[in-house]
Amino acid sequence: MSEKPHIIITSSRFLNPVFSEYRKSHDTEGMWQSMTDEEVEQKAVLFSGLWEREKGLILGGITEALGLHFLENIICAYVVSGQQGGFSDPIVISSHLSDEKFVDVLLHELTHRLLQYHVEEINTHAITKKLFANVENPSTKAHIMINAVEQYLFLEVFRDAARLQRNINYMLPYPALNLHGIS
Ligand SMILES: [Zn+2]
Repeated sequence: MSEKPHIIITSSRFLNPVFSEYRKSHDTEGMWQSMTDEEVEQKAVLFSGLWEREKGLILGGITEALGLHFLENIICAYVVSGQQGGFSDPIVISSHLSDEKFVDVLLHELTHRLLQYHVEEINTHAITKKLFANVENPSTKAHIMINAVEQYLFLEVFRDAARLQRNINYMLPYPALNLHGIS
């Protein structure tokens, strides 16, 4: 097993309509427009190119920060139109994200994935329950370690405070997922 996994960023002609139909059925205002399969494929190619430029620093930074290695050699990240933002297992990310946002969402989901597969070695739930007993929202607790890793990457690896601030701003509508303000 290599220390750094190969991340395959791809569209899926099966998953794209599944997610689009789900999204449409939950769109109470009926305003949401899906991308076509071809448009999503183009975004997956574009996103893949953006990831290539930064993958070394990101995978190195995440594993170094946590002292953990990925247990998988290959991780697929599926780009679909119907997903809002991303989730981590399987990794599914919205094709509607801006170019500058995509890599940051991917690194967020990869951090979830890395921690999730090492829960017996580092139980972040137990740690944050002890250290942040006053934080009640389980989603907030789940993101304390994630946000710490993001902050390390943006400030220490990329030395880009504006990128950290951009991410904090992006998460402002989702206060349960935004722990950067806690010190
Ligand atoms: Zn998350």
